Amino acid sequence: MQIKKVGVVGAGTMGNGIAQVCAAAGYDVVMRDIAEPFVERGIKTITRNLERLVARGKMTEADKEAVLTRVQGTTVLDPLADADLIIEAALEDLAVKVKLFGELDTVAKPGAILASNTSSISLTRIAAATKRPDHVVGMHFFNPVPVMKLLEVIKALQTGDETCAVVEELGRKLGKIPITVKDSYGFVGNRILVPMLNEAINCLYEGLAEPAAIDEVMKLGMNHPMGPLALTDLIGLDIVLNVMETLYQGFEDPKYRPSPLLKQMVDAGYLGRKTGRGFYNYETH
Ligand code: NAD
Repeated sequence: MQIKKVGVVGAGTMGNGIAQVCAAAGYDVVMRDIAEPFVERGIKTITRNLERLVARGKMTEADKEAVLTRVQGTTVLDPLADADLIIEAALEDLAVKVKLFGELDTVAKPGAILASNTSSISLTRIAAATKRPDHVVGMHFFNPVPVMKLLEVIKALQTGDETCAVVEELGRKLGKIPITVKDSYGFVGNRILVPMLNEAINCLYEGLAEPAAIDEVMKLGMNHPMGPLALTDLIGLDIVLNVMETLYQGFEDPKYRPSPLLKQMVDAGYLGRKTGRGFYNYETH
């Protein structure tokens, strides 16, 4: 199967990044969000990212314009009907994704592949919400999408080998390196990463050290390019909490208990960079 047109559902952090890399690789893209301001914000982010590439001499002005003309924004599902592949990057919530995949299944043409960028939700359950479970797969991109090389391809119990092969090939065309893993809570990347972030938050909760010191330990001692608390701020504390809850409830193992401090900060609305405040303060006065 040849992919020509890609639908992206969700124009947020991940959705606009996915739309950008697909358009940059020459695919026609339709990016859908639920309201116009979200779509506009997504298009603005893509424009800003491309302008930065032009300023650094990594892209010509003409190429930037060509990429932008390949991205169509929308608030409705109909323009996704002729997409060969739809990649969902909406909220990390099982009920939302199950409902959405039911709708996408109705709208998408026969044979189209439905992919989810979920960080941790069972692809097997998402696939079961459709009448084309063999055509449902996980395409787990990493943040920031235009920069990060990994594409974790998630094979649900129902996913066909051909479906995996098509998205692996697409991933390579986007300049990513696809690694295919079986469906399980958190897959491989977040199963290892997110409990480590949670443990760093517990170190802060127990008052072992200040945020910058905890981050320095992991940067200097483990050669991590970014400390775990700064990384949590970048990912979003709500997303990290969601993944911990998915691991905790999925495996029913207390070792995945979310840190009380993480829960409290999410309750306070301190979600990291996107709200201007997380473990660090990003507000500009
Ligand atoms: P985000 O909050 O930045 O963006 C989500 C967008 O989806 C919002 O603009 C929202 O309006 C929109 N949306 C909600 N319901 C929708 C619907 N029914 N149809 C269309 N759009 C809808 O979130 P994000 O960080 O981009 O995360 C999106 C997904 O990607 C989540 O499943 C998340 O777990 C996953 N993910 C996130 C990261 C990360 O680092 N942020 C990394 C990998 C995967």
